[in-house]
Amino acid sequence: MCPLGRAGSSPALGTLSKGVRLPSTYPGGEIGRRAVLRRLCLRACWFESSSGYESLGFAKAFDFHAFYRPKNILIETRMLCSSYLCFVVVKNIFGAPSLSASIDSVQRPFVMSGPCSAESREQVLATARALANSEKVHLFRAGIWKPRTRPNAFEGVGQIGLEWLKEVRQTTGLPVATEVANAQHVEACMEAGLDVLWIGARTTVSPFAVQEIADALRGTGIPVFVKNPMHADLKLWIGAIERISASVGGPVWAMHRGFSSYGLKEYRNAPMWEIPIGLRSVLPEIPMLCDPSHIAGRRNLVHVVAQKAMDLGMHGLMIETHNQPEQAWSDAEQQITPQSLVTLIDELTIREVHAQPEHSSGLESLRLQMDSLDEQLIELLNARMNLAKEIGRFKLEHGMTILQMERWKEVIETRGGWADRWGLGPAFISNLLEQLHKESIRVQNEEMIQNSKVPTI
Ligand code: PEP
Ligand code: MN
Repeated sequence: MCPLGRAGSSPALGTLSKGVRLPSTYPGGEIGRRAVLRRLCLRACWFESSSGYESLGFAKAFDFHAFYRPKNILIETRMLCSSYLCFVVVKNIFGAPSLSASIDSVQRPFVMSGPCSAESREQVLATARALANSEKVHLFRAGIWKPRTRPNAFEGVGQIGLEWLKEVRQTTGLPVATEVANAQHVEACMEAGLDVLWIGARTTVSPFAVQEIADALRGTGIPVFVKNPMHADLKLWIGAIERISASVGGPVWAMHRGFSSYGLKEYRNAPMWEIPIGLRSVLPEIPMLCDPSHIAGRRNLVHVVAQKAMDLGMHGLMIETHNQPEQAWSDAEQQITPQSLVTLIDELTIREVHAQPEHSSGLESLRLQMDSLDEQLIELLNARMNLAKEIGRFKLEHGMTILQMERWKEVIETRGGWADRWGLGPAFISNLLEQLHKESIRVQNEEMIQNSKVPTI
């Protein structure tokens, strides 16, 4: 009897579990054990082609755990007694309701990587092989329908790319993902048995397009990643996630790829970190990936953005890689080699999202102090606004204008000096004063309108 008392029902899974007897020791130790698991995983992939999506789930579960959590022997036990449970485990990895129901079971960062665009079978397979061998990547990506800003740019290889992605899965065991922008794309991907789909920034801006995709995905349960819209509109992003979640019946993740703006700037797409943070506070159950490649737009900035995403507690990264980045047919400036990806991931500092139990009481006490200071700050702000009202009434009685430039200059100078004494940055203080001044003017204006003698008819 298996631990959960349920046996798998798929014929392909039955075949696999019947034929498999895992030894308790392996020639070649841990490396040998991984080699055996890898072969089994590949077999599961072959079985998948004849038996549909469930056993694919099994293959993915097996692959992830065999390569990325090799110490998790529970998976072997489960496979021997019930392949069905393995499928549940993969759902778990993608955050669907299941045994422990959380992406937290995957060590951060979850890494999705591959070329911006699939260009040829050779380029896709070479990149995928290097990524699979790196053992850093959980999910392979390649765009096959490319939404381009202007016509006559490379618009993707189209449906043939699905065949290459299937081959990636069969030869490397990596699950595969591509971007969908309409219902036909979804149908083609479901038919090809892709593992994950994502919705690009140019599609998220259109509720009609998102709804069309949501309708095509209804009940499929396939994991979907929703990128933020091109421009900084949190509600539009939330709306797209809601439309997809309401229909797909599977895990939905958010992907932060920055926001487009006009003119030259440091990043290709401004990160505006407050927006993904805002999304996490509205939808805390949605895992968040960051796409540093499209934010940075340049190879040398990808690492800084990835580190920042990790420091903000994001679950994973989507980083574009290409076997020959300079030759890439799209986004050549931002793609990196699989080798550089390994260095990048190794050099990331991954801090805990939650404090270890032994540190949590110290953190708790610091947070209590912070709460108390914030409460005092708000009381002080209230007192300041009450003074602003009084000043407003005074100015009204004495026929003075609200804005007094001399006084404003004096405020900036004196406060700047006070802040400097405490080592508070001038930009921070001048932004804060700016906001306070704006609100004071609003309050004074309101006070004047209320107290001025408006003629009655
Ligand atoms: C991509 O991921 O290749 C892509 C087109 O990204 P975005 O939708 O973020 O521009
Ligand atoms: Mn790209």
